[in-house]
Amino acid sequence: MHIAIIGGGLTGLTLAYYLQKAGVAYDLFEASARPGGNLHSPLEAAGYQLEAGPNSLLLSPELEELLQELGLQEAIQEAAPVSQHRYVLRHGQYQALPASPPKLLASSFFGFKTKFNLLRELLRRPAPPVPGETVAAFFERHFGPEVVEYAVNPFVAGIYAGDPRELLLALTFPQLAALEQQYGSVLRGFAASQKGKTGQRRRTITLRGGVQTLTAALAARLTNYHPGQAVQAVRKEPAASQAALVYHLTINGQPAPRPYAHLALAVPAYAAAELLRPLHPAAAEALAAVRYPPMTLVYSAYDRPQVAHELVGFGALNPKVEGTYSAGSIWTSSIFPDRVPAGQVLFTSFVGGAQFAAQAQQPEAAQLAAVHEELSRLYGIAGAPRWQGRYFWPRSIPQFDQHLAAARAAVAPLAAQGIVAVANWQAGVSVPDCVKHARKVSAELARGDVAHR
Ligand SMILES: Cc1cc2nc3c(=O)[nH]c(=O)nc-3n(C[C@H](O)[C@H](O)[C@H](O)COP(=O)(O)OP(=O)(O)OC[C@H]3O[C@@H](n4cnc5c(N)ncnc54)[C@H](O)[C@@H]3O)c2cc1C
Repeated sequence: MHIAIIGGGLTGLTLAYYLQKAGVAYDLFEASARPGGNLHSPLEAAGYQLEAGPNSLLLSPELEELLQELGLQEAIQEAAPVSQHRYVLRHGQYQALPASPPKLLASSFFGFKTKFNLLRELLRRPAPPVPGETVAAFFERHFGPEVVEYAVNPFVAGIYAGDPRELLLALTFPQLAALEQQYGSVLRGFAASQKGKTGQRRRTITLRGGVQTLTAALAARLTNYHPGQAVQAVRKEPAASQAALVYHLTINGQPAPRPYAHLALAVPAYAAAELLRPLHPAAAEALAAVRYPPMTLVYSAYDRPQVAHELVGFGALNPKVEGTYSAGSIWTSSIFPDRVPAGQVLFTSFVGGAQFAAQAQQPEAAQLAAVHEELSRLYGIAGAPRWQGRYFWPRSIPQFDQHLAAARAAVAPLAAQGIVAVANWQAGVSVPDCVKHARKVSAELARGDVAHR
């Protein structure tokens, strides 16, 4: 019997793609007319190729294979080599973040005490994980408060829109917990884990036409993709012939034409909560508690001569202690120069996330003015922007905190009733994680591992 996939973001589309490949019958329902969810690449009339979600992707083996299968090798665009440089605001000035622990010891980015902590960390003995430990507490224990404030805090705000004092280490960076358990020292463990590897970093890429080229290509390949079909309700009843259950969906006010043996929830946790509420109220309650802070992306373009800063890098992050308006900016035109008209530079600034939530909710005019003022001060910009725009996510990225741990625990037993969760709150936030997870779940479903019990 068929599988119903609810949600046509990257994860749902990838799941459908691999199920189709394995010959498993499915229907994929996506509420919006546009596939891709968070992967959204608007092209601004003035000639700016923007990204509302991911601005770049780390090329994992699974993602590379998927791009190849979809015939998208030619669409891959490498990030410019300067992108390996990252900057962090320190006492009102951007400073290059040293790229490795040895470079960090040699640089003046951190003070003497922190450098001493780094050396001392090498001597730590293997230790079991501390239950419920936050990302901030883990790094403070290993490296001291300066590393938390000036490296971990901006990194976590930039990637997870999160607050390291809330996110759980075991959910956000499980690999670090494993290194501590095996080696004690994270630095030593990391060095050991790199042995035998070629030393090449994963490539940072985008796709011609923006990252949504990937999700558009996936949707185009699917035979049973149904856009503009919001699933509003799910009802279950025992199947006539077996002891198993079947699920009946209501879509855009109408009953779906067929029942389903399995449900794959590829929707945000708050949307999954609404669908599960009548069937599993306790799981729904846990899902509804998962936090998604608001986030606004502000785009600001200037003529190159207006900007004093060299902009040789990927971008710059603003630690919370620096008291800025935005969490930082990506230097879009430095990473992918063909995304803006010649002679211009484009900043993509992040306003919001768990630590900057109040700013994310402000009216557009206030946000554009505040970002322009901040960029002018930090980058030495003269005059008004050539163009500005914004994209607002009322609920952006799920927070991998104690609420998410509870939601995952509440949903796990539903597999016995043929319900699996595959969205980013289950998979991991990054695009490569979503692809890897969807592929794994498709294999489990195809093998019949998600059986009714
Ligand atoms: C601002 C931002 C920046 C990011 N930057 C990066 C980055 O640089 N690199 C990176 O790797 N990752 C990044 N990510 C994360 C990554 O984009 C997401 O984790 C990933 O795209 C999530 O995909 P998903 O399919 O799990 O969920 P979603 O994209 O949320 O898709 C869920 C889909 O379900 C649909 N839906 C909801 N309810 C229903 C319903 N009842 N019926 C039918 N359909 C429904 C929605 O319309 C949506 O299309 C970023 C995310 C955001 C928001």
